This record gives sequence, C-alpha cells and structure tokens, in this order.
Amino acid sequence: MADTAYLDWPFFEPHHRELARALEAWAREHVPQAHGHDVDAACRVLVRSLGQGGWLRHAVAGTAHGGAGEAIDTRAICLIRETLARHSGLADFAFAMQGLGSGAISLGGSPEQRAAWLPRVARGEAIAAFALSEPEAGSDVAAMACAARQEGGDYVLDGEKTWISNGGIADFYVVFARTGEAPAARGISAFIVEAGTPGFEIAERIDVIAPHPLARLRFTGCRVPSAHRIGPAGEGFKLAMRTLDVFRTSVAAAALGFARRALDEALQRATTRRLFGQHLADFQLTQAKLAQMAATVDSAALLTYRAAWQRDQGRSVTREAAMAKMCATEGAQSVIDAAVQIFGGLGVVSEMPVERLYREIRALRIYEGATEVQQLIIARELLKDVKERGQP
Ligand SMILES: Cc1cc2nc3c(=O)[nH]c(=O)nc-3n(C[C@H](O)[C@H](O)[C@H](O)COP(=O)(O)OP(=O)(O)OC[C@H]3O[C@@H](n4cnc5c(N)ncnc54)[C@H](O)[C@@H]3O)c2cc1C
Repeated sequence: MADTAYLDWPFFEPHHRELARALEAWAREHVPQAHGHDVDAACRVLVRSLGQGGWLRHAVAGTAHGGAGEAIDTRAICLIRETLARHSGLADFAFAMQGLGSGAISLGGSPEQRAAWLPRVARGEAIAAFALSEPEAGSDVAAMACAARQEGGDYVLDGEKTWISNGGIADFYVVFARTGEAPAARGISAFIVEAGTPGFEIAERIDVIAPHPLARLRFTGCRVPSAHRIGPAGEGFKLAMRTLDVFRTSVAAAALGFARRALDEALQRATTRRLFGQHLADFQLTQAKLAQMAATVDSAALLTYRAAWQRDQGRSVTREAAMAKMCATEGAQSVIDAAVQIFGGLGVVSEMPVERLYREIRALRIYEGATEVQQLIIARELLKDVKERGQP
C-alpha cells in the first residue's frame, strides 16, 4: 500500500486529495503493469482508457472543450502523473503527451482550433504530439532550422524534427517552425499539422531504453492552411516556453512517482529477504540506504508540490519549477539505483519493476530541459535577484 500521508500537506485542496485517491483506485484496476512489445498499440489503448476514465480532462483547458477547469490545474496534473508513474511509465507518458501535445492549443489556440481538437484529446480520441526539437536544435531550441514560408493562404513547411514522442501514432502534431518575422527566438510560429498531410512523413522510428513511440519527422513542401497557425506569427517560441512552463513541474512529479515505487519495492524486498540469519532491512547499511531514499523522495515531493501550488496561485515559477525538475529527476535516479542494489541480482532481471524504473527514469534528466539547463535557469534567477535587490 503506497504511503499517501503527503496528501495532507497544505499545498492541496480537498478536490486534489479526492482526485489522487480516485485515480489510485482506478489505476489499480485499469493500468496494466506490463504492456507487451507493441508500444504503439499499448499507447493507443492507454490513451483511450485514460480518456474514458475522465483523466485526460485535466490535460486540457476550458470546460467548454472537455477540460476539467478553465485553466490547467498544475497540482492535479502533478498528482495524476505521480500516481500513473508509480503504476506504469507508459501510462504516465500517454497522459503527459496528451497535455504537452495540445498545450499550445489550450494556451493560445483560436476558438475553432480549440473546438476542433481539445474535446477529442480529452476523450482520448485524438493523440497529440509536440514537435520542437531538431537534430541541431535540442537544448539550444532557438537554433531551429525547420522553416514555414507563406504562400497564398497557406504556409509551406520544410525541415526536420526529432525525438518526437508519439511520432508515428499521433493524429496531429503541434510543430514549431521558423517564419522569420525577427531573428532567433522571435521569428518562430506554431502550426497544427495533421497526420497524413501530404509532404509530412515519419522519416525514422527511434528505439530507446524505455520504449515508447518516438520518431524523426520530415516536412518536404508540406502545405498547411494559415488557419492552422496557433496564435500570432512570430510568437511560437513564447507559446512553446509557456507550454513547457505548465508541464515542466509535472516531469518532476513523474520522477517522484518512479522514486516512490522504487522505495516501496525496496522496502518490501528488504523486509522479506533473509541473508546471514536476518532480514536485509536489519542491517544498518541497508537502513542508511532506505533513510536516504525516503528523505530524497520527500524533498522531491516538497519541491514539486511547492512549484505546482505556486503556479496555481498565478505566480511565476521559473526558479521553483527548475529546482523541482532538477532535484526530483536526479534524486529519483539515485533512489532507483539504490533499489536495484537492494534487489541484488534480481534488480537487473528484465521487466522486474526496479529494472523497468532504472530504464524509465533516465530520459527525464534530459528532456524538457536537461539538468544543466535547469542549473543555469536557477543560477540566472538567483543572480537576477542579487542585481535587483542588491547584495545579500
Ligand atoms: C525520450 C525522449 C523524448 C523526447 N520527446 C520530445 C518531444 O516530444 N518533443 C520534442 O520537441 N522534443 C523531445 N525530446 C527532445 C529533448 O527535449 C532533447 O533531447 C533535449 O532538449 C536535449 O537536446 P539534445 O538531445 O539535442 O541534446 P543537446 O542539446 O546536444 O545537449 C546534450 C547535453 O549537453 C548538456 N548541456 C545542454 N546545455 C548545456 C549548457 N548550457 N551547459 C552545459 N551543458 C549543457 C546536457 O547534459 C545535455 O543532455 C525528447 C527526448 C527524449 C530523450
């Protein structure tokens, strides 16, 4: 039984506590532990099932378009991601990508775009993807080369995107491309590109250590109507950053879910495995590991829900979200590693829960801003404070 004492923390309102408890009960019944080898099929089933369960309503904004509220409730998406990640990395992925992929539409879409896509995303009937990264523009997003030129009433896209989650199974992609209104980040716009649009192809499927649908996309003279541009021309970079701002804290929450599962597994194993005439948990060296793991989990949870709460108060969370993402993902890696150690040989057997977690956590330290990028953000915010307020 997972420890849910943290739900009593003052960051939450009663409806958050109810949501977490209801999802836990639902996940036990509906989220499989193993998904087989066809991740495309597994993801489609998970999206549909999360939609039918009503959970995807939290991933989109606007009650008129199927959303649970007018704005995305950061604490709700964090609790959902944490709970799903504790059960299954793929279920967390399926939920998160519906939100990230449709985030730009929730935040900046026209009424027509919102009406066309958000209800289907919320019901799990349309799969979403967020296409920002390129082979030569990952951490340095503003270096993007994929271009969209205006021609008549259309835009024509040329270029590539890579590392695109849900690439190959998505029904639509929010694609960021250079439209050239101004140099660097100020000359980028966002577009909705539907799967099957002529000139758009999946150039390559990418296999990763924790399998999920991932692809490199290619656009060759791909024509999309101007009505598919999201928000004003040249404002796409801001929209991408605003979308990431909503979801960055939720990456910390997913890492937290992985870490909690690893701690639960480690506690169960350490208290039942006998060696040298006693239980593994009776050794002080094991207790030191468990203590460090529990403290790391709690500190990650405090940072994550502080950032989520602060964002829900309408306050800036640039520094807090970066701290949460950095500490929760790095911390989860160390907690999971300790759990693998406690399991001994069993810890590295394929598809054991801790082995799966060991693979699943790794990418979270890289995507949506690698740890080094979060460090730079935190330091920049600290130094800005010194400049504004004077020396401490
Ligand atoms: C599993 C997975 C799923 C993803 N899904 C998506 C998606 O759906 N949509 C999307 O658009 N992108 C997605 N990405 C891309 C992801 O956001 C990029 O991988 C990430 O931004 C890093 O870019 P890069 O891989 O090009 O690494 P690079 O930019 O080449 O960076 C390499 C490393 O350099 C270090 N580094 C970076 N900046 C600095 C710095 N300033 N100083 C010092 N060191 C630094 C970091 O350790 C970083 O890991 C995904 C990636 C993965 C692995």
